[in-house]
Amino acid sequence: MTPLFSPGMPLPAPDAVTGEFWKACREHRLVVQKCVACGTHRFSPGPVCSECHSFDYVLAESRGVGEVFTYTIVHHVSHPATRAAVPYNAVVVRLADCGGVKLVSNLVDCDNDDIHVGMLVELAWDDVTAEVTLPRFKRLSRSNIGPETLK
Ligand SMILES: [Zn+2]
Repeated sequence: MTPLFSPGMPLPAPDAVTGEFWKACREHRLVVQKCVACGTHRFSPGPVCSECHSFDYVLAESRGVGEVFTYTIVHHVSHPATRAAVPYNAVVVRLADCGGVKLVSNLVDCDNDDIHVGMLVELAWDDVTAEVTLPRFKRLSRSNIGPETLK
């Protein structure tokens, strides 16, 4: 994948709460915490369920298919590493599974003018470094469209 941003873009710093999420990303698996007590999925990773305050959770693996919930086109250079990338998109993707949790990401291989709310998308793993892989998205390919896509 062509790098979205120039070298120097700040990268995630995994910690005790987010480490297993970032480890799964390196393995090209998108995982979402699911509360053992009440079944609520949550994203981004956190230590406690916002619904029932339980600390117990399991990791659910997402198929990585969803839709554009909302998006924006960024024209402002907010960091030197974005200078060559503007205008670039920032999207909020609602997953089709895992309780429909939402992730902030970017769409790749897509003209900004073609992005629209409701657009079906799928994961496009971006191995930014040897240690960091980011879940970006691309337009859903027809081979991945099934009747269960957005249940
Ligand atoms: Zn809960």
